[in-house]
Amino acid sequence: MREELREAVRRVLPGVRADLEELIRIPSVSADPGAAGEVRRSAELVAKLFREAGAPRVELLQVEGGQPAVLARWPAPPGRPTVLLYAHHDVQPPGEPASWTTPPFEPAEREGRLYGRGAADDKAGVAAHLAVLRAYGGQPPVGVTVFAEGEEEIGSPTLGAFLERYRDALAADVIVLADSANPERGTPGLTISLRGLASCVVEVRALKHGVHSGAFGGAAPDALTALCRLLATLHGEQGDVAIEGLATAPPPPYDYPEERFRAEAGMLDGVKLLGSGSIAARLWAKPAVSVLAIDTTRVADASNTLIPMARAKVSVRLAPGDEPARAWDARASHLRDHAPWGVQVTVQNREIGRPYAIDAQGPAFDAARAAFRQAYGRELIEWGVGGTIPFVASFADAFPKAAILVTSAGADKDCRAHSTDESLPLDDFEHACVAEAHLLAECASALGGFH
Ligand SMILES: [Zn+2]
Repeated sequence: MREELREAVRRVLPGVRADLEELIRIPSVSADPGAAGEVRRSAELVAKLFREAGAPRVELLQVEGGQPAVLARWPAPPGRPTVLLYAHHDVQPPGEPASWTTPPFEPAEREGRLYGRGAADDKAGVAAHLAVLRAYGGQPPVGVTVFAEGEEEIGSPTLGAFLERYRDALAADVIVLADSANPERGTPGLTISLRGLASCVVEVRALKHGVHSGAFGGAAPDALTALCRLLATLHGEQGDVAIEGLATAPPPPYDYPEERFRAEAGMLDGVKLLGSGSIAARLWAKPAVSVLAIDTTRVADASNTLIPMARAKVSVRLAPGDEPARAWDARASHLRDHAPWGVQVTVQNREIGRPYAIDAQGPAFDAARAAFRQAYGRELIEWGVGGTIPFVASFADAFPKAAILVTSAGADKDCRAHSTDESLPLDDFEHACVAEAHLLAECASALGGFH
């Protein structure tokens, strides 16, 4: 039975690969209002593919102000659970097309990887779900709802409303979010912790207007020096975050070898790591503060003038277990309390995203461990992601009883999602399709645990 499933996936893969390439050719950039027609065209193609894969019911849905999503449903056979398979069909903008080795919307294979915008993030997810349903000949052993979102890359602005409006259609025992990455090529990963985000813009005012730096410097403070001193208080000497009141989660069991981390981060020789604890703990279980931008006078435009106002954008990544609203307060208090020389400080909140930790216990997680082991021939690694995937918390809120599996459709650390030369390793794409097919079989037989 198990080998038959692998064979069935292999048989459908050439067709799925062609359909994935067709999807990549559609520039469904949700951030570009001018590409709205392409996002719709991409949704229509996804709907057509699942209709042809035998879905008894396929709908193109959106809530007001949102982008078109596709819902394809196979009702559960009697007594069987329902599995929701999520992916998104919108993509990031390509950036400068000339900096791609081959054009972003023309799929190309090189050295076992398929290149193109969306090849990994996350048209691979759509294609993996398609492969699984085709491998089952359109008759999966459990109820299946495929949900292909069209606005993930702009932060899923209407996902909450969508989950509420279509709650009944989306209800499931197990939710598979195939939009994360494997820790390395050939090793399957289950993402069980995600950091949150609470960014802000801090503005410092010191003078009513610019004044001569010779006539007034030495006694009157300038805003830029004050801002630099203020930003310097955000970390301790070793680079640990110095804002009091931010949460830290227990350190993850998986670790990240230092050499590999240094190479992947592109750290220059002699540059030290920030913070303390294992690298995985620093990335996934602790907060991180980074200054992303500063608005001030450009060097080319500088005159001998004390600067009256300067501002910076500060990103704060939050550990699982933290609350963005509380973190916002802690960070604002820190910035106000540490302002040097009595300068005036205002803090404006910007992006927000909740962190999330998944307790990977129960039959659905056991089913996933068995399924991924069979497909990849390696144990599933439970690991974290330092970034934020806000939709995970949205699904958890909407369906508190469902088991949430954040998986990869084959994407690895080298897939360069959101960057130039995005690519998908085709061997792991096959493994991911086989794993998901096994997962449905495991869920069907582990049925008793779900009800
Ligand atoms: Zn994605």
